Amino acid sequence: MKSKAFRSLVILLGIVTLGVLWIEGAPPPVFYVFVPIVTLCVLFVLWVVRFCGSCGGSVTNYNPFKRVKTCASCGESLS
Ligand SMILES: [Zn+2]
Repeated sequence: MKSKAFRSLVILLGIVTLGVLWIEGAPPPVFYVFVPIVTLCVLFVLWVVRFCGSCGGSVTNYNPFKRVKTCASCGESLS
């Protein structure tokens, strides 16, 4: 999957989640809780999943203290 398409999809999912809550008539306190949670989830996924510019493969990085610097598929360094 292409990097831009993936990012758009993740952001869209976050917006849809909040949109569904709004349509369902969730009270404002629910939004105060869910807006930061959904925003953090979206940012987390975008941060964890990276894409190789060379082969287009996705690189997931679950260790917050150690960034993956090279692509697991082709060995190209990630920018
Ligand atoms: Zn690669």
